[in-house]
Amino acid sequence: MNAVELIERKRDGGVLSDREIAWMIQAYTGGSVTDYQMSAMAMAIFLNGLNAAELNAWTDAMLHSGEVLDFADIAAPKVDKHSTGGVGDKVSIPLAPMVAACGLAIPMMSGRGLGHTGGTLDKLESIPGFRTGLDPSEFRRVLEECGLVLAGQSETLVPADRKLYALRDATGTVPSIPLIASSIMSKKLAEGLDALILDVKVGVGAFMQKIEDARTLASTMVGIGNDHGVNTVALLTAMDAPLGREVGNASEIRESIDVLTGGGPSDLVDVTYALGIEMLLSGDVASDEEDARAMLRRAVETGAAMERFAKVIAEQGGNPRVIDDPDILPMADGIHEITAERSGTVHRCDARKVGVAAMRLGAGRERKEDTIDPGVGITVFAKPGQSVAEGDLLARLRYRHPARLQEALRILAEAWYIDADPIDVPPLIEERIAAASAG
Ligand code: URA
Repeated sequence: MNAVELIERKRDGGVLSDREIAWMIQAYTGGSVTDYQMSAMAMAIFLNGLNAAELNAWTDAMLHSGEVLDFADIAAPKVDKHSTGGVGDKVSIPLAPMVAACGLAIPMMSGRGLGHTGGTLDKLESIPGFRTGLDPSEFRRVLEECGLVLAGQSETLVPADRKLYALRDATGTVPSIPLIASSIMSKKLAEGLDALILDVKVGVGAFMQKIEDARTLASTMVGIGNDHGVNTVALLTAMDAPLGREVGNASEIRESIDVLTGGGPSDLVDVTYALGIEMLLSGDVASDEEDARAMLRRAVETGAAMERFAKVIAEQGGNPRVIDDPDILPMADGIHEITAERSGTVHRCDARKVGVAAMRLGAGRERKEDTIDPGVGITVFAKPGQSVAEGDLLARLRYRHPARLQEALRILAEAWYIDADPIDVPPLIEERIAAASAG
């Protein structure tokens, strides 16, 4: 086969066969199709898309570019949850132990933060000693011992995506629905799951800012999952304001611990329970929504979920004392508070601006090679729909470097908008998408 011919056909709006796609991905992973040829192909797909059959073939070829995990010998249903990325989105951290305590096995592979969105691995690594880089045998051992494992993607899983994602990042071809859907789903399908719940974020702080785009991405991924025999459901959830109060790394672990003790801000708790209910239903361990909710509540109230969290922290090398003594988490000393300049109702607390400001404080990475500071971050006190009086606290920033603080404050200058009129806050869970077909 000839890469140039395939690129030309896609460039001109033509269709590639399963065999051609499999060859292209295999040759790219092996190095005989070059980065510049794959860049041209990614741009052709960005411009002309993939039809349903091409998308399934593309995802399949990516999935089989490396190891595919098999946990068939573990009796519990294997279920994972994946978020498309948001600000303050720490849901996976309390959710995984909660659903594990309800009888699911959770082989969770998460990512790092990039740009204005945070990453579960970075948050977990703020727990002293916690290791997220596990080899496949350790990954399996922790899953067997704890019913959950919270780790990064291994080197051997979907190597085609590792190469292609870096290339897309450098060639303006990330925001393409077929390329995003196949990238996410190939990695999730390689986890050997029975079911997958997708949290597709929509709003100013999300990848997908328009509901129609989020809906298309969600139904595309749901279609790929179901076509590959994984029971896949997506919830579209709001990401106009940060989720919960904390945006940072160590501070998001504290807030996750709050949820596991039955507390935590209501928006974070609501999204965690909504996703948990979907996981228990898809894994067939709950009879209906009410049963699933009761199981999750029980897991929290009896301390069973917290026990799982303590166990997984210890198994992955972390200090489980963090649960009773969150003060062992790193925390920057510098504090700066932002207050309301007028009284009224909060109309906007811009998730993207808060995320970018937190990144500038050092909580996130602008480039992959940047290191993060787990102890800095932003606590948000005023969210849309809330009434505030002049002088009330809107946010508290924890910082280490005054220059970074100034930069964060510049970004936050217009993050909040307060008006005299009341507003209707749109629902947090916007839509549920199940059983669609790819394309
Ligand atoms: N996350 C991924 O894993 N891949 C994409 O293409 C976008 C987000």
